[in-house]
Amino acid sequence: MSNVLLVDMEKCTGCKQCALACSLTKEDLFDPLRSRIKILKREKTAMSVQLLCEQCSGHPCTDACPEDALTRDEGTGIITVDADLCTGCGACAKVCPYHAIRLHPETEVPLICDLCGGDPYCVQHCVPEALMWVDETDERVKEKKKLRAARMAQYKSIIEES
Ligand code: SF4
Ligand code: SF4
Repeated sequence: MSNVLLVDMEKCTGCKQCALACSLTKEDLFDPLRSRIKILKREKTAMSVQLLCEQCSGHPCTDACPEDALTRDEGTGIITVDADLCTGCGACAKVCPYHAIRLHPETEVPLICDLCGGDPYCVQHCVPEALMWVDETDERVKEKKKLRAARMAQYKSIIEES
């Protein structure tokens, strides 16, 4: 059995605490622009969308990289970035179907969620428990993923504007 990072879009308040926690643990800074999770929020409607690597099975990011800087762990689906090989071209970010990849504001090396090696720090800091680290067989997984797919389509315009 393995765990998955589950997002409950209905519980997310868009507070960005997760993004701050992520940048702190990975970059030693409170800066959502250096986070591996992106929270997009439309203030007028209070709608928010959470974008992060979903360890997708097709993983087009790895194929798009002309430098072979991205590798995928076949067991966990986690993508690892070799910063020495990466030229910061952004090809991976363009093809990610979940718009999950942000380039580091200074080095331009892609920031991709690595699930903190199995204990995601963002989950620990999400007060309304919109982020959950649950067993893949948990009964909520199918339902929340279905809802998330529908919401992602509904929020397409917010995502494309980002
Ligand atoms: S970064 Fe995007 S394309 Fe690459 S595995 Fe994650 S979700 Fe898939
Ligand atoms: S910490 Fe939780 S509620 Fe706040 S933005 Fe992140 S996912 Fe949403």
